[in-house]
Amino acid sequence: MSHCQPIEDLRSAILKLNLEQAQLLHCDLETLIEQLQALKPQHQPTVVKAHRVVQEVRHIEGVTYQLERVKCGKEGCKCTDAPIHGPYWYAYWRVNDRQKTRYIGKRFKTVNILERTKPQFSSVSTYRLPLKVVKQATEELVSTLC
Ligand SMILES: [Zn+2]
Repeated sequence: MSHCQPIEDLRSAILKLNLEQAQLLHCDLETLIEQLQALKPQHQPTVVKAHRVVQEVRHIEGVTYQLERVKCGKEGCKCTDAPIHGPYWYAYWRVNDRQKTRYIGKRFKTVNILERTKPQFSSVSTYRLPLKVVKQATEELVSTLC
């Protein structure tokens, strides 16, 4: 049993309509489509989630780069039928078994994944230098006090 059968039946019925009936049906259909579209996100929350179609993959220095067309899934967007946004490059890599993602843009370029983890280290490295300065300043302060 094909689930398309009701549609086929409808189609053959539609072919028998006159202009007024067809226009009425058109109006009804538009209303119905609007109602269904308004309901859709609630019934299928996954539709709201971005959907991706990978067009190209590159592996460079432990980073996977993917050229993707994106379906944002936002209500009212043209992309509901097909992922039409982009294509954009995205970088994927793993840090401690955790997937990291970074948006690159329309033009391909490699990302510096160390740059991404830099904040963790920079807090240490920038701390190290002032420590010397602080120590020196403290010694100077102590010497002036004594
Ligand atoms: Zn969209």
